[in-house]
Amino acid sequence: MSNRSSNKRLRLALVAHDAKKDLMVEWARANGDRLKHAHIYATGTTGGRISDALPNLEVTALKSGPLGGDQQIGAMICEQKLDGLIFFIDPMSPMPHDVDVKALSRLAIVYDLPFASSPSTAEYVLKGLYTGD
Ligand code: PGA
Repeated sequence: MSNRSSNKRLRLALVAHDAKKDLMVEWARANGDRLKHAHIYATGTTGGRISDALPNLEVTALKSGPLGGDQQIGAMICEQKLDGLIFFIDPMSPMPHDVDVKALSRLAIVYDLPFASSPSTAEYVLKGLYTGD
């Protein structure tokens, strides 16, 4: 599944909309054993929440999503600097940066980046990235 060389640290982008941030922290906690071997790139607020809850993880917080963080992650996808994207999207609320959300999911598809938008699929993606299955 992944074209990552096995001796390299997994590079994972994590993004969660406000209504999904608790869920993201819960998911990160449940997957802490795997995530501690990864380098996490996250949009600002999501990254802050994950770092506060799990200080042992290596997290680089980018700009907040509405201020360009989604686009920073999009640029990393284009430059093939990521191995996976976990993006917990809130399907119930309209948001001003909806275009960024669409652009980010689109780039994940264009570059065939393993991409999950819910905890159960994120579980499979993370497992697959580690085992290469
Ligand atoms: P945030 O951005 O982590 O800074 O809240 C997420 C988003 O809404 O794209």
